[in-house]
Amino acid sequence: MKLMMFKQNGAARLGVVEDENVIDVTVCGGALPETLQALIEAGPDVLATLAQAIKSAPEAAKLPLESITPALPIECPGKFICVGLNYAAHAREGGHDIPEYPSLFVRWATSLVPAEAPVIRPRVSEKFDYEAELTIIIGNGGRRIAEEDALNYVFGYTIFNDVSVRDYQRKTAQWTPGKNFDGTGPLGPHVVTPDELPPGASGLRITSRVNGETRQDSNTADMIFSTAQIIAIVSEFMTLEAGDVIATGTPSGVAHAMKPPGWMKAGDRVEAEIEGIGVLANPIIDEA
Ligand code: MG
Repeated sequence: MKLMMFKQNGAARLGVVEDENVIDVTVCGGALPETLQALIEAGPDVLATLAQAIKSAPEAAKLPLESITPALPIECPGKFICVGLNYAAHAREGGHDIPEYPSLFVRWATSLVPAEAPVIRPRVSEKFDYEAELTIIIGNGGRRIAEEDALNYVFGYTIFNDVSVRDYQRKTAQWTPGKNFDGTGPLGPHVVTPDELPPGASGLRITSRVNGETRQDSNTADMIFSTAQIIAIVSEFMTLEAGDVIATGTPSGVAHAMKPPGWMKAGDRVEAEIEGIGVLANPIIDEA
């Protein structure tokens, strides 16, 4: 199933994407969850109920995709964990060694924006970069999850653009400031359940474009640490919970490594695409 959150009359609603339409779950009747977070917390039986309910959705529930405004799939994730340097060619292009243990950092909700919302280039940044990333949304939570079991803990997969303020990311060894400026983290719009993708969402083409020009073009099979390994590694030190988000790192081709660097500026349109999941597109604006 392909799910999304969208805004209707100011309120965020849960939808199911079918062909060129979004089915508004709130119009399908029954006691169905109103948000993706609630659906994840409700568990797999309710997901199955939802799948049944949308089969008989009234015509009034079907909204053309191009007519709706996407919202964040998870408005305020309990945890938003990012893996850095998870593609060998990207590690090399930044002058880093291939990691033996993943570089992990975190994002806060104030940095996140939905698809199609403006991404804000901070006044202080000349080095504004993009990073297309396969992103895990955790279903069942857990601690010390074994790698062999880890894919059972995935609710679905989405797309993240880990837009990076390189001027600040590289001030110290800690990446927190450069990865947390307000309005620099597009997430979504679609969340695809694992049954519609290869195991671990491996083997999917992942690309990014700026103003239609391809910048990154790789495959999720090239990740150094797989989806299952990342879940095992993160849950070794903390409890993962329903709705937690893990962005799995970006392939080579970032602006920082281009000669000359291809930094993003106001007026640009950036897209991140993953085969079978969708396209995450956003305009760039300057901070007011
Ligand atoms: Mg990244």
